[in-house]
Amino acid sequence: MRVLIVEDDFIGSRLMKKFLEADCFCHLAFDGREAIDAFEAALKEGKPYDLLFLDIMMPEVNGIDVLKTVRTIEEQRGIPPDKGVKVIMTTAMNDADVIMESFNARCDGYIVKPVRKEKLFEEIESLGLLSQTNR
Ligand SMILES: [Mg+2]
Repeated sequence: MRVLIVEDDFIGSRLMKKFLEADCFCHLAFDGREAIDAFEAALKEGKPYDLLFLDIMMPEVNGIDVLKTVRTIEEQRGIPPDKGVKVIMTTAMNDADVIMESFNARCDGYIVKPVRKEKLFEEIESLGLLSQTNR
């Protein structure tokens, strides 16, 4: 399974990669703009990501705006909602408003930091993606 980890904190990003890289093919993006570019490039190459882990507080474009852009790009390309990339927010923000806004923008899961390996795989399993990993 192809995973894009979007996280501006270098240590956080490395940690998530370490948790996932044995079981998934991981790319990293360090800000929102880079994330959108990587998402679009993967679609154009015919190798779309299966899963995005998306931080919210990032420079350039925040995670919720990345999510909205991703869903708009999918709509423009005629990708039906159930075939779109799965998106799990990974953030320190646990305000009800932010969580609601994320789900309204059609994220599929929400993990409040600190990120733990077990929690990542619980979410992957709950989205029905575990069989696409090497686990
Ligand atoms: Mg951040």
